Amino acid sequence: MSDRRTRWEDDVLIFGLSSKQVLLATLFYVCEVCGNQGAHQLVKQVRRFTFFFIPIFPVGTRYVDTCTFCGRAMDVPRDRAEAAVAGQGSAELQ
Ligand SMILES: [Zn+2]
Repeated sequence: MSDRRTRWEDDVLIFGLSSKQVLLATLFYVCEVCGNQGAHQLVKQVRRFTFFFIPIFPVGTRYVDTCTFCGRAMDVPRDRAEAAVAGQGSAELQ
């Protein structure tokens, strides 16, 4: 029994979740909460399953839009987030 316990203690597996945030775009529109025409930061949050601190595969991706005036945060569907990023890109080209 003691031999088995010793072997179990040697088998330490380190796994967990890591989270990464990427600022995709800064959008300017009137916030429906505070009413300010202000900057909203569109952030992509990627959570990854890690094994020995090495990211192995993504677990979930969220797109969150945060008002810089009042701090209201809202989940945005992926297609809307990508459309917003694409729209900003073309606006910058003009
Ligand atoms: Zn706001």
